[in-house]
Amino acid sequence: MISRTTTLLLSLLLAIPALATEPSPRPGGVVIVEVGDAADNAPKVSLHGKPVLVMTRNGKWVAVAGVPLDAEPGELTLDVGAESAVVEIAEHAYREQWITVENQSFVEQSQEQLDRIWSERKIIDAVLTSFTNRPVSSLSLRPPVPGNRSDSFGYRRFFNEQARSPHKGMDMSAASGDPVSAPSEGLIAATGDYFFNGNTVLIDHGQGFVSMYCHLSEITVKEGQSVTVGDVIGAVGATGRVTGPHLHFGTYLNGTAVDPAIFLLDAN
Ligand SMILES: [Zn+2]
Repeated sequence: MISRTTTLLLSLLLAIPALATEPSPRPGGVVIVEVGDAADNAPKVSLHGKPVLVMTRNGKWVAVAGVPLDAEPGELTLDVGAESAVVEIAEHAYREQWITVENQSFVEQSQEQLDRIWSERKIIDAVLTSFTNRPVSSLSLRPPVPGNRSDSFGYRRFFNEQARSPHKGMDMSAASGDPVSAPSEGLIAATGDYFFNGNTVLIDHGQGFVSMYCHLSEITVKEGQSVTVGDVIGAVGATGRVTGPHLHFGTYLNGTAVDPAIFLLDAN
């Protein structure tokens, strides 16, 4: 079967007004592609075989896809039904962060710890790659804590000079015990006390749009519970692999980490 390839110009995408988020066609960013008329059924869109969020905007269906942090600059192809749409991904150099960690167990793990990390990874990945077919009306997120945002997303990290996976969230400064609130409506998809992330809450906002809160001192929600914007889900802490209290805030689309700054509203 031959599919027609549509090359979409970014200038066209940028012209779509009033989206909760602007397109940021870079690794760790989002691409927004018009995929049909809202009068028709929503088309099935996927990227690398993973379903992509589709929402209506100004009478059109638009696909909002997360671009993997390890995506190469150049063409990225979305499957749109039997067709495909190609978007151009720009190069983006994330900063390097070199960290010296005193506690060697955070750098080199025992087999027991590796087993624990592996089983936790499976739980977290299952949530991040889940796709619930709920309509999503907005991707705007209210800041989960009022503290400073940092540009720590995407840092290429080295712990004790060993290369590690890039930093897949935004660290927000806050004091231990400060309440953390849901940034948008959703369903509590998982909670747990994980080796690296400490006390963690994952919220499913629908269609693979998932947010994650780590290092909490306390979790005040239960799996399966519905939350709405502003509901307290826990408190800031320093559990897991951290040097001090802060909130690690992660946002995911189609199973890939994207920069939370893309979705955050300015004010509380
Ligand atoms: Zn972090």
